[in-house]
Amino acid sequence: MREFNLLINGQLVSGAARLNVINPATEEVLAQAPRADLAQLNEAIAAAKAVFPAWSAKPVHERGALLVKLADALEARKDEFVRLLTLEQGKPLSEALWEIEFTIEIIRHHATLDLSDKVLREDASHKIVRQNMPLGVVAAIVPWNFPVLLLVIKLAPALLAGDTLIAKPAPTTPLTTLRFGEICGEILPPGVVNVIVDNNDLGDALSSHADVAKVAFTGSTATGKKVMSGVAGSLKRLTLELGGNDAAIVLDDVDPIEVAPKLLNASMMNAGQICLGAKRIYVHESQYGQICEELGRLASECVVDDGLKQGTQMGPLQNKAQFEKVKGFLEDAKQNGKIVAGGEVLNRKGYFIRPTIVRDIADDARLVREEQFGPIVPILQYSDIEDAIARANNSDYGLGGTIWAKDLDRAFEVATKIETGIVWINTFLDVSPDIAIGGAKQSGIGSQLCREGLEAFTQSKIINMAK
Ligand code: NAD
Repeated sequence: MREFNLLINGQLVSGAARLNVINPATEEVLAQAPRADLAQLNEAIAAAKAVFPAWSAKPVHERGALLVKLADALEARKDEFVRLLTLEQGKPLSEALWEIEFTIEIIRHHATLDLSDKVLREDASHKIVRQNMPLGVVAAIVPWNFPVLLLVIKLAPALLAGDTLIAKPAPTTPLTTLRFGEICGEILPPGVVNVIVDNNDLGDALSSHADVAKVAFTGSTATGKKVMSGVAGSLKRLTLELGGNDAAIVLDDVDPIEVAPKLLNASMMNAGQICLGAKRIYVHESQYGQICEELGRLASECVVDDGLKQGTQMGPLQNKAQFEKVKGFLEDAKQNGKIVAGGEVLNRKGYFIRPTIVRDIADDARLVREEQFGPIVPILQYSDIEDAIARANNSDYGLGGTIWAKDLDRAFEVATKIETGIVWINTFLDVSPDIAIGGAKQSGIGSQLCREGLEAFTQSKIINMAK
């Protein structure tokens, strides 16, 4: 594999140290990534600050045109990115393809957005105009489950708005971000985008840095809280997309055979490592047995293997720490519930766990209360829909959720009562660049994508002129 370098002030540079990146399907070293030290981080922030006046002064359409070039360049190297994403993250090639294609769509969409001044009111005596001013340097801090997509939903609006950026991937999935940095280095003025890789040790210095105007963070709720307290001193702008424990509620009118594969997909896609994945499934008592059985049958047929292999439906967990954490949930499920399918770690190299369906587990079990972020899902029984809604809402999290039903009016009524930032009815991960994603309660603050997501990378300013 070609060498990987940091991108600082338009230059591809070695890190102060190196970091082994592990292929989660083999546990072998896939590549060495450059690891930045504090001096390199500070250099990157200084470069982003220095270029900000020139970058933000460019007309929006010129920044949009450069976004189109980024999308074109990514598209031209799509196959390479898809393969590299599977190698470092573990997901099957088909899922990696979805991530890269959606990423390209997001960049192209942002290139078309308008940020020109808006006249809010004009009459004989007044003219009131709203402007969206760029903020300055943005820190984009990203986890390891969708490394490219979760970077670009920050980068595209930030660049269009006139901000400059420091991208910091998770240390276990830095490679696709580093390659994307190469593209940014070829297309953008030096310093507009910088890529810094750490070993989970520079996030605080980055987010609390005095010259960073905004932190756009995706990751766990625990780290999100640290970031929030770190930025409190300067009141810098903050978007947090955090953890979730999304409920799927299955109404009693569904066809169990038809709904089961959709539930399995919602809970097991990316080996369950999706913030918006179905992490608890509530099924009416009249269909509980049949749906558990069908989910178990489908889960046991699932092909779990290296994501690079044709036919693989589920890859490994992304990293050893998450593998160990999910094994803890397996133990909990074995003690407190009944395993319908899965329950095993594959007897081979790699962080593989078979998709696991758990029934007859209490609401206060760890697997139900906490975010498992892995291929193990509890199926819970309800008799009264209001009770299912109350149990679904009984969580500190409030990210998303799904309702599965034939009667759409009833499903809509249930969705209305769910306390989360997004609810899908009869669909899952139905995301588009112009529709907001964002969490309620401890799942986050603010939204990404959509107009609101773009404006979150700006400061709104009112100019009120008396004539
Ligand atoms: P994490 O919080 O451990 O790490 C996320 C990022 O934060 C990494 O880049 C990490 O290096 C960095 N970081 C670590 N310590 C930091 C600090 N003190 N200050 C600033 N940055 C710091 O999360 P993870 O384990 O990589 O990702 C999994 C979590 O992300 C899950 O909880 C999942 O639900 C959540 N997630 C949420 C969304 C969403 O849109 N809501 C999307 C994907 C993942």
